[in-house]
Parts: sequence; C-alpha cells; structure tokens
Amino acid sequence: MAQAKKALGKSQKNGRGAARAATKKYPNYIGGEWVASASGEWFDNENPADVREIVGRFPVSTAEDVAEAVEAAQDAADRWRRLPAPRRAEILFRLGEILIRNKDKFTREMTREMGKVLKEAGGDVQEAIDCTYYTAGEGRRLHGFTTPAEMPDKFAMCVRQPVGLCGLVTPWNFPMAIPSWKLIPALVCGNTVVIKPAEDTPLSTYNLVKACEEAGIPAGVVNLVAGYGETAGAALVGHRDVRLISFTGSTEVGRIVAGVCAERNAVCSLEMGGKNVIMVMEDADLDLAVEGAVWGAFGTSGQRCTASSRIVVHKKVYKKFTQMLVERAQGLRVGDGLDEKTDVGPVINADALHRILGYIEVGQREDGARLACGGSRLDKGAHASGYFIEPTVFADAAPGMRIAQEEIFGPVTTVIPAGSLAEAVEIGNGVRYGLSASIYTRDVNRAFRAMQEMYTGIFYVNSSTIGAEVHLPFGGTKATGNGHREAGTQVLDIFTEWKSVYVDYSGKLQRAQIDEVNFE
Ligand code: NAD
Repeated sequence: MAQAKKALGKSQKNGRGAARAATKKYPNYIGGEWVASASGEWFDNENPADVREIVGRFPVSTAEDVAEAVEAAQDAADRWRRLPAPRRAEILFRLGEILIRNKDKFTREMTREMGKVLKEAGGDVQEAIDCTYYTAGEGRRLHGFTTPAEMPDKFAMCVRQPVGLCGLVTPWNFPMAIPSWKLIPALVCGNTVVIKPAEDTPLSTYNLVKACEEAGIPAGVVNLVAGYGETAGAALVGHRDVRLISFTGSTEVGRIVAGVCAERNAVCSLEMGGKNVIMVMEDADLDLAVEGAVWGAFGTSGQRCTASSRIVVHKKVYKKFTQMLVERAQGLRVGDGLDEKTDVGPVINADALHRILGYIEVGQREDGARLACGGSRLDKGAHASGYFIEPTVFADAAPGMRIAQEEIFGPVTTVIPAGSLAEAVEIGNGVRYGLSASIYTRDVNRAFRAMQEMYTGIFYVNSSTIGAEVHLPFGGTKATGNGHREAGTQVLDIFTEWKSVYVDYSGKLQRAQIDEVNFE
C-alpha cells in the first residue's frame, strides 16, 4: 500500500471533513473511558461505495493518546494476569454472545465502511464469533507439560505466562475478524492490549471493543486508539513499555514495524502480503476450478491477503479454462455491497483505485499480457460516487511479469499457462510471498505432491486459495510472515512465553549435567 497517501486519510483528501460536523463521532477507549484525542481532531470514515456518505468520525490520535492507553493497560496488567484463565474465558464467552446478537448490525456497518458484500461482511463477523468461542475454550487448557527431570526427587514442567502489554496493529480488509484473531488470544492468555485499527475501517473495531466493554472486560484491559499509521501506529510500535507488537498489513509496513521492534527488543509477529496461486491440472473438474477461481480472485474485490491473484493452468485445458473464467468474470455484478444482488463491491479508497488501475496499465503496456476482460473503472450511474473497478482477467501472462509477481490487492487476476505439474509448482513458488496455494486435480498423487512441494503456510486441494478456519494455524512463509502463526492453538505461542519450572524436593544441592546418578 502507498503509505504516504494514507497519512492523509480518506476524507481529508477530498477536503469535506469540516462540512460534516453532524456525523456521529466514535471516540477512543482508554482505561474504561470513551474519550476524544488530545489533538481534538477527527477524521472521516467514508463509504467507498458512495463517498458522499460518511459512516462516522474518529479521533486523529497522537503519541500522547497512545501513551495514555499504554499507561491504562499497564495499570490493569497485574490484576488481569492474576484472574484465573477460566474466569477470563467466561467473560470472553459473554463477548461471543454479544457479537452473535449484533451480527446483522455489525455486518451492515462493515459493508458501509469498507464495501465488501453483505455475505462476506457477515462471514467476517462470524469469524470473530468463531474465534471468540474457540479461543475462550483455551481458558480451560492453556496446556504446558510435565517431563521427567534428570535428577532424583526433582520435578520438571513448563507453563505458559502472558507476554505482558500487547500492541495490535490491524489492516482494513478483515476489520473485525483480524482484530479478534489478535485480541481474543491476547486476552485469554492474560495480556492487556492497546489496539490501533486501520484508518479506513475503525468502526468495526470500535464495535468489537464496545462489545468487550458490554461483556464486562475490566477497564484498562482493552484500549482502543484510532488514527493514522505513521502517527498513532508508529507511536504504539515504538513505545518502550509495549512488550509485543502483533501486526497484520503490507510487507512494506511490516518491515518498518519489525525494524522498530528489533531496536527496542520487543516481541514482534507479522502477517503480511500474498501472491497466491491456484494450479489447475488437465484432469481437473473445470467447472469447479472456475468457480473457485472467481470466488478467490474477485471475492472482497480481490482485497484479501489470500486472494487468487495467479491462476496457473495446464496447457491442455488452458484455452477452455480461460474462456470459462472470462465468461464468469464478465457476468459478475459490480455495485454497492449493501445490495443483495451485488457480487463484487468497491475497492477501499482512492489510493487503491489508482494503484489497481496503474497495475492494469502495467499489465497491458509494460508486461504485454493480454487483457481478456475488464480493465476499467466504473464511474457512471450507480457507480458514479464510488471506487468501482471491473473484474479483470489477464491471460497469456509470463510468471516473471510484474502483474504476476506483485500484490495488486484488487479485482485483477492473471492466468499463466504451464506444461506440467512440476512447472506449475515452480511458477507457484516463484514469488517472494508464501501465504496460500491450491490445486485442482482428480489425481490424489498429484495433490499430495503439490502439497509437499508448495512452500506456503496454507494449501488447498480442489478448493480456492481462500477460506481459512479459525482452529487451524494461519500465516505464511517468506515475505508473508516472520515465522509465527495466528489462529489455532499456535497463536498461543505468540501471546505467551514459556517458563520452565524445576522443583527439587531432595533437600540437597543437585547439579544437573555434573552429578552422577546411579542405580542403588
Ligand atoms: P498497511 O500496511 O497499509 O496498514 C496496516 C496497518 O498498519 C494499519 O493499521 C496502518 O495504519 C498501520 N501502519 C501504517 N504505517 C505504519 C507505521 N509506520 N507504523 C505503525 N503502523 C503503521 O496495510 P493495509 O492496506 O491496511 O492492508 C492490506 C495489506 O495487508 C495487504 O498487503 C494484505 O495482503 C495484508 N494482509 C495480510 C494478512 C495476513 O494475515 N497475512 C491479512 C490481511 C491483510
């Protein structure tokens, strides 16, 4: 993402902020109080399907606000850590109930603030619900283990302990699911948090935090600070008292975050970009493969980290597959996500619109791929006030082209021919990212071969590159991550640190590795 432009925010760029004083304001949440920013400034949250509509106004938070939130989280830390994990979990189960009760409202508000169609926004809220129930269950597990000690009359075990104060920095494309993936495990593990949501989608995180308050999560345990990445985000990442930063966003910003964390020796988990691949073999069920490609490439207008932005197709079925894909893409209805008939909503903001259209130009001019369908902005009639782009398919692309290498993060996919499974795998792995891959084939041997050879964090057989479930680990290799996994029980390894405990009840000094222990 182009970070420099983001500093301006969506609506400050169109200069209409001042005229919208009547729009509802959503303050920060610090130490159990709903408060404005010390800056006294607010930014507008614009509906990307109709920029005339301002969904709400949010604080332009400063380093001062972040420091207050950190202090509040610190004050609450010991009390929250000492509350037994099953009790913490009980509060989280209540949170789950509140999310269920409000699912429709939260879904509609999410569609208004970020554009994805209602079904998908509902899925986003549902993911937060699933994550809450699944992870709250960990309150009665949080397993460590016991193991034999090498000396007699000595007991050895290891237990999880909370990391401490966690700073959560999240993107806009899953505005409730991703915050929940971080927030809920952080809380069940006994940490307190400060969350800085993406500037394009603060309302969904506000809804989540408001639900935390209603569920009875004590003051100071969860703190919310809205604002821009370069100011509020950077202040949180750089704050010396924040022990852990959990970041999801672009690889470019993730690198900055990692650098700052390294400087001050903070724990840092990163979930970043993707350039995912569907491989379609000559024996595949083509109807199924096309369906998966359309869903993976154009769902959420292609703005998913797991989007199917490359489709590598065996030469024997290449022509037929491409034709079928293009026909389906041309039939998709682009429009306001609130309209039940819409298949593909807008893209998130003006920067994204220009970046995606720029890539479409690169595909045609610089790369020389064949634009098989789409390629244009839709800006007439019902589309006049939003950021709409036609579902776009590039065909006959080569693996090294920029459109086949870089994360476009829009409704654009690239079809690349391949002569064999081995070639498809080589193309599939031949990008800097390693998030998700999939294969369509009826041959079980090929499916397992591809599963073994693809160096990604997620792999699907006869399914698209999207559709993760919360009880399995989520994350990627190479430039997608830094070795951590969210979701599943693996996320507990982010939000806890191990403590090895030795209890010597021999009543004498026993020296491991030195004293001899014999059969007597
Ligand atoms: P982004 O990197 O622009 O922003 C992410 C967050 O970082 C935002 O909250 C932003 O305000 C903040 N930020 C920006 N600059 C900062 C700085 N200097 N210091 C601290 N924080 C800063 O990403 P985005 O546009 O919101 O999201 C899209 C990207 O996220 C894509 O690359 C996508 O692939 C990736 N993503 C990855 C996953 C995953 O799990 N791997 C999931 C969703 C999205």
